[in-house]
Amino acid sequence: MSSSIMANSEGENKVSNGMKRMWEIAFTKKALVLASCILAIMSVAVSFVPFIAIYYIISHLAVNMSNPNGLEGSYMIRLGWIAGGAAIGAILLNFLALMCSHLAAFKTLYHLKLKFANHLASLPMGFHTENSTGKIRKVVDENIEKIEGFIAHQLPDIVGSFATPIVILIILFVFEWRLGLATLVPIIVLYILQSIYTGKNAMKFIKIYQDSLEDMNNASVEYVRGISVVKAFSQTIYSFRKFYDSIKTYGDFALAYTKTFKNGFVMFLVVLNNIYIFLVPVIIWLSGGVTDYPQFAMSALFYLIFSVSITAPFLKLMYVSQKGKQIADGIQRMDRVFSVEPLPEAENPKTVDSFDIVFQNVSFSYGESEALSGVSFTARQREVTALVGPSGSGKSTIAHLIPRFYDVNSGDIKIGGVDIRHMSSQYLMQIVSFVFQEIFLFQQSILDNIKIGNKDASREEVIAAAKAAQCHEFIKRLPMGYDTVIGTNNIHLSGGEKQRIIIARAILKDAPIIVLDEATAFADPENEHKIQLAFEQLMKNKTVIIIAHRLSTVRGADKILVIDEGRLVEEGKHDVLVGSGGRYSHMWQQYTAAMSWRITEGQVANNA
Ligand code: ADP
Repeated sequence: MSSSIMANSEGENKVSNGMKRMWEIAFTKKALVLASCILAIMSVAVSFVPFIAIYYIISHLAVNMSNPNGLEGSYMIRLGWIAGGAAIGAILLNFLALMCSHLAAFKTLYHLKLKFANHLASLPMGFHTENSTGKIRKVVDENIEKIEGFIAHQLPDIVGSFATPIVILIILFVFEWRLGLATLVPIIVLYILQSIYTGKNAMKFIKIYQDSLEDMNNASVEYVRGISVVKAFSQTIYSFRKFYDSIKTYGDFALAYTKTFKNGFVMFLVVLNNIYIFLVPVIIWLSGGVTDYPQFAMSALFYLIFSVSITAPFLKLMYVSQKGKQIADGIQRMDRVFSVEPLPEAENPKTVDSFDIVFQNVSFSYGESEALSGVSFTARQREVTALVGPSGSGKSTIAHLIPRFYDVNSGDIKIGGVDIRHMSSQYLMQIVSFVFQEIFLFQQSILDNIKIGNKDASREEVIAAAKAAQCHEFIKRLPMGYDTVIGTNNIHLSGGEKQRIIIARAILKDAPIIVLDEATAFADPENEHKIQLAFEQLMKNKTVIIIAHRLSTVRGADKILVIDEGRLVEEGKHDVLVGSGGRYSHMWQQYTAAMSWRITEGQVANNA
């Protein structure tokens, strides 16, 4: 059930072949990509024409060295023009290849980002509470951008690098096939050596490399973010430990990586930089039977010089393929998000006209650990049902299941007699308002932020909602009133003010069901009182499920559900539960003791 994007979830099989997917994605804009590849190959082929033209010019000079009358100026000038034209042509073709690849890359990037955004919007809300925006942003920013770089730059490079040796080989075989064959041997050796770095083993290494790099980055961010806490509690050594460990793991891994591949890589470089060693014996051997020495010397020289030009594309190919592995790993991370499935939508969605909420034998787990087991209760329309219990007992989970952040594992949840899975998710969102502790306001005007509750509401209706949520006073004091844009010009709201805006949004939405978590964070009495008043306005005549933190809320609730370790252990009204001497009455004693302790402490402060 857990849908963390970094976990190796059940989607792993679907996303296992990163390299294959990378090519699939690269070829979404087939025509442009193919055009770019063909142009890149043509550019490579044409770039060798000047070499050949110059070879012919030098050959012509060499052959006619002892007979200057045999020299043909026009022939050599023509070859000169061909050489110059081909050099410019190769650059132009390369430019066109890059134009096509960039166009393909931008179009693919646009398409992918859009698809990603739509997919994120379709995912269950639970996915978003589990995965931080930072993580998701990283998946989008880093990995999708990497794909863009791959298509725009590396793809033409790869094609060019593959085409270069092929073109060189063709040219080599045209002049003297035996020397061509001798050049082929080191090329085959190089391919075998190179496959060692780009095979399955290397992929595993790249994955560990990426993971340890990510761990190190996360640890460093955590360290920097927590630095004030660290200083306040003199915890430098302990908090540094995690950061230090992650750097050490990364360092150890980098060393192991280097050690594993060092021999093969040295061999690769030795062969790559000494291709002529394969040629020299063949040249000596062939020279025995030669009749036209100047011509043979020219050919041998040509092969020796030309074989060295194989080096560059091989090196390029090696770096490109290593980069390809990193991108493939990034694609796997991205695909892990794509493989999280949206909650199934009802085929014939139903609506309701009454709003009792009924849990029937509901069990739910996040991955392995069971968070709720066999929970059954009814929360009546126009009543307040309070959830109480120790931290981690499952209260938030119950609250999250009502707007279908997740689907239950067994049992069912009904609203007005209809299973919530038989409603459209849009309808469910319409009839349920939830106010949780995480507060998010858009960088828009306050008016627009409240209007998210009901985009058709008039300005007057927004103001009425803001008044009910105790926001009107402080909004009026802002430089542009309701049109003040949050987050700009040093306009920052306090936590309590933000929370009241969220409540105004919910009041404007006027949904028949309210699921809310009473915040505990804003402890200053004035704010607490205002939020309390705002909640009262919001909850009027609704089906309310509330994770209760305040004594007044718990006491005034129509029904209290006591949750412990994922089970409903007691249920009833305050007086009855206190009288029964069970779990709740024990909790109540603790609450009141804590309350009187706070008052006493306050009195001490006043008296001091
Ligand atoms: P409460 O609201 O009462 O504090 P929760 O409903 O948040 O309790 O948590 C119930 C149990 O489920 C706890 O053991 C908690 O660790 C676990 N839990 C909550 N959210 C998640 C999540 N997103 N992934 C995994 N486990 C979770």
